Amino acid sequence: MERVDCVVVGAGVVGLAVARALALGGREVLLLEAEAAIGTATSARNSEVIHAGIYYPQGSLKGRLCVAGRQALYAFCDSHGVPYRRCGKLIVASDDAQLAALAQLQQHARANGVDDLQRLTGAELLALEPQLRAVAGLRSPSTGIVDSHALMLALLGAAESQGALLALNAPVAGIALTDAGLRVRVGGAEPLQLLARTLVNCAGHGAPLLAARTAGLPAAGRPRQFFAKGSYFSLAGRTPFTHLVYPLPEPGGLGVHLTLDLAGQARFGPDVEWVDGLDYQVEPQRAEGFYAAIRRYWPGLSDGALQPAYSGIRPKISGPGEPAADFRIDGPAQHGVPGLVNLFGIESPGLTACLAIADEVCRRLEGAG
Ligand SMILES: Cc1cc2nc3c(=O)[nH]c(=O)nc-3n(C[C@H](O)[C@H](O)[C@H](O)COP(=O)(O)OP(=O)(O)OC[C@H]3O[C@@H](n4cnc5c(N)ncnc54)[C@H](O)[C@@H]3O)c2cc1C
Repeated sequence: MERVDCVVVGAGVVGLAVARALALGGREVLLLEAEAAIGTATSARNSEVIHAGIYYPQGSLKGRLCVAGRQALYAFCDSHGVPYRRCGKLIVASDDAQLAALAQLQQHARANGVDDLQRLTGAELLALEPQLRAVAGLRSPSTGIVDSHALMLALLGAAESQGALLALNAPVAGIALTDAGLRVRVGGAEPLQLLARTLVNCAGHGAPLLAARTAGLPAAGRPRQFFAKGSYFSLAGRTPFTHLVYPLPEPGGLGVHLTLDLAGQARFGPDVEWVDGLDYQVEPQRAEGFYAAIRRYWPGLSDGALQPAYSGIRPKISGPGEPAADFRIDGPAQHGVPGLVNLFGIESPGLTACLAIADEVCRRLEGAG
């Protein structure tokens, strides 16, 4: 059986960042991806927003890794020529009843280390975005947008230049914990078995299943998984907005917000719909709910302007009505298995936080945390 130092399962943005970090640390890395290309799952189906780190519970991994990851990501984009724009974001209160929640959000953000939010009046918002209707808002200057595909290619290039190898069409079917190391069963057209010293499970939606197929992993290390779909609608024609515009958050997501891509195209979403599996079809009739939500902050949205675009599915480990789970990074200190790290529930802000998540994985492998 072939021996390898580190196996990273899943070449989404997180697996790519982990492969790079391990390779930079001098480790031999084999990155196994089930599909025929990198980054075709959740990493290709999101808002591409570099989040500031405003919303997450204080002391959570999401909060800490978002703030650290955002700073690292801007630096990485600068040094690797990845296109991004620090366009800023507005969070708006549509009526006086939301003012208390807005003030609370600002305090919360400060406690998370996001101390650059500016409180704006309705008039100040109008001066920035003449089409916006809001009684007050917060401006986040450190929020931006990034070309997620260029980011993934740059991460892959950085990992490969340190010697990491990528194998496509290489689905990991199961793992067994043995005295000699982690025995990895790879399926696909050319099945094989490997013996790894270290394995990092960054399989996104596939991560809980792979944990369930890890012989010897304690039951507590195998979380249940849930799927929360988010559909997007794109705006036909030119957008009047230059900032990202968000309402106040809603249970399960951040509310139907307006994001821009680097080409200046506007899209709205994602909404929140609990589903049973990975069906990415966008149902045109969901547009109705979008018109209503968007017109609370943009009354000028004309009928027929929204077109079904795409969807993404949040890899959740907490279900509907339950408190939102934090990122779960299970290392040896959590499950007792040397050399194994399982990542679960890496929903938003996983793109923003990818570099910090990778550092955290390395720390846990070194025995910290
Ligand atoms: C609707 C939506 C909007 C979002 N918006 C944002 C945002 O604006 N900003 C932000 O920071 N974050 C955002 N996120 C979160 C972000 O997209 C994710 O956190 C991130 O993409 C997760 O990357 P990943 O590598 O963990 O997972 P994935 O991209 O899903 O990659 C997992 C990979 O593992 C592979 N795989 C699965 N099983 C196996 C197996 N057994 N063997 C081998 N390979 C396997 C898959 O093929 C896939 O390529 C959003 C998420 C959603 C759903």
